[in-house]
Amino acid sequence: MSSEERRAAIYLRISQDRENTRLGVDRHREDAEALIAARRWISAGIYEDNDLSGKGHKKRPAFERLLEDIGAGLIDVVVAQEWPRLERNRIDGVRIIEAAQRGHVLLTFAKGSDIDCTTAAGRLSADMFSAIARNEIEVKAERQSRAQRQRAEQGRPPKGVRPLGYASNGDVIKDEAEAVERIYIAFSSGASLRAIAAALSGGEGKDLPKMPNLPRHNRTLMIERNARRSEEDLEPRLVPTDSPWVSSTVLGILRNPRYAGYSTYTPKEVLTNGDRRRSWRAQILRDEHGEPVLGRWDRIVSLDVWEAVQDRLDDPARITNRAGTDRKHLGSGLYRCGVCDKPVKAQGLRYRCEGHVLRSRAQIDDFVVETVRRRLQLPDLYDLLPSADEPRMREIKGEIDDRRARLHRAQRDYDDELIEGLDLKRIRDRENAAIDTLEVDRLRLSLGMAHNSVLEARDPLTAFDGGDLAIRRQTIEILCEVHLLPHPRGIKVFNPDSLTVTWRQPTT
Ligand SMILES: [Zn+2]
Repeated sequence: MSSEERRAAIYLRISQDRENTRLGVDRHREDAEALIAARRWISAGIYEDNDLSGKGHKKRPAFERLLEDIGAGLIDVVVAQEWPRLERNRIDGVRIIEAAQRGHVLLTFAKGSDIDCTTAAGRLSADMFSAIARNEIEVKAERQSRAQRQRAEQGRPPKGVRPLGYASNGDVIKDEAEAVERIYIAFSSGASLRAIAAALSGGEGKDLPKMPNLPRHNRTLMIERNARRSEEDLEPRLVPTDSPWVSSTVLGILRNPRYAGYSTYTPKEVLTNGDRRRSWRAQILRDEHGEPVLGRWDRIVSLDVWEAVQDRLDDPARITNRAGTDRKHLGSGLYRCGVCDKPVKAQGLRYRCEGHVLRSRAQIDDFVVETVRRRLQLPDLYDLLPSADEPRMREIKGEIDDRRARLHRAQRDYDDELIEGLDLKRIRDRENAAIDTLEVDRLRLSLGMAHNSVLEARDPLTAFDGGDLAIRRQTIEILCEVHLLPHPRGIKVFNPDSLTVTWRQPTT
C-alpha cells in the first residue's frame, strides 16, 4: 500500500482546559489536517469526544467508534495532538495499542513522533508513552494535593464546591448558615434525616423545628455557575427544576467538619477506605502533635454541638447527656412538694414526697413542659437571666465547651487510632487543667447564678425542644417554681389545678 492511499482518522478530545477549550480543539484539528495534507493521506473523518459533558469515567463514544472502525479495517492512520489526548487512561491506552497492532495502524501525533504498532519496537514505544503519560498524571495529582494540603494547613477554605452556608472564600452566607444551624438543632433534638429533608423542602413535620425553605444546594450551585458563565459570555447550562431535599444531603451537612471550624483535607486513601464514619473524622487536618487545625472561617455550629451530632450519627441508640447531670428525670429535686416545700424525688413512674404527694411523672412533666414552652414564646425572657458579666460568662462557657469537645474528640481520635496514647494523655492533661481554671472563673463570676443557653437563644423554643435534660431542668428552674399538690384519690384524669407553676419575676 502506498502512503498516498492511507486513510487517516483525526481523533480530538475536549478536556478540562480552563481557558477557551473550543479554541484549543480547533487548533488541534488544524494541526492534524495539515499533517494529513503534508503526508498526502486521505481523510477518514473526525472523531471528537467531549470530556466536559460527562464527569467521571464516562465512556468516550467517539473513541469507542474509532476502535470499532479500526477493527473493521476502515482506518490506516490515527492522527491526534499528543499521546495523552488519545490515551486518557492506562486501559484505553492498552486498548488502542492492541487495536492498532491488530489493524496494522499507524498512530501519529502532531506533537511527537509516530508509533507504528505493526512492529514490536512500535509497541514498546507505545507502552513507554503510556507509562510516561501515567506518571505525568500522577505527578500532577500529587502536586495538586500538596497545594490543597498547604491551603488547609494555613486554614484557608478548600477549593472547589462551596458548602451550604459558606461562600467560596469562606465568608458566612447568613440565611444558609441559619439553615445549617437549624439542621443541627433539629437533628440534636431527635429529628430524623428524612424529616429534616422534608422540612427543608417545605413539608410540615410534626415536632420539627421550623426550617427555612431552601432550594436544593446543588441547584443553587448550578445557578451560580451559570451566572459566572454568562459573565464569561458562555452559554448557560440547563438547570433542572427544583426537587425535594434528600437525606444524604442532610447527612453530608451534619458530617461536615468545616461547620465546626475544622480545617479539612482529604487524602485519597481516606476516600477509598470505605469506612464512612472514620473517613469524615479523618478529613480533619491535624498538625504534627495530632491537634486539629482550625480554619480561618467562622464556625456555624459550636464544637460541642458538632461532636454530639457525630455521636448520634455514629450510634443513634446512644443517649448523650453532655451537661453531666446525674438526674434522670425532669422534675426530681426540682419540683417541690405543695405541702412541705421540700423537693420531690422520683420513684418508679411517679414523683413522691413521702406522706404528702405521689404523682404520675409523665402527666406532670407533660404539663410543665407545655407550660414552659408557652412561656418561651413570650418576650422579655432575657430579663429573667441572672445579671452577671454576661459577655465574659458567655466567653467562658464557649471556651469550656470547646475544651470539653476537644477532650471528647481526642478520645474518639484515639479510639479510631488517629492519634497515639501519648497525644491523648497530653491533650487530656492540658484541657482538664484549663477547664478547671475556667470553672473557677465562672464560679467567681456567676456567684452561684445560672447561665442558660435556652433563654439566650435566638429561638428559645427550638433551643428548649432541642436541649437535653440538664438544660431543660435549668430553664424550668430559672423560669418558675413548680409545686405538686396531693392528687384526689381514685381520679385518673389529670387536673391542672393539682399543681402550681409560679413564674419568677425579672431581676431588673
Ligand atoms: Zn412534702
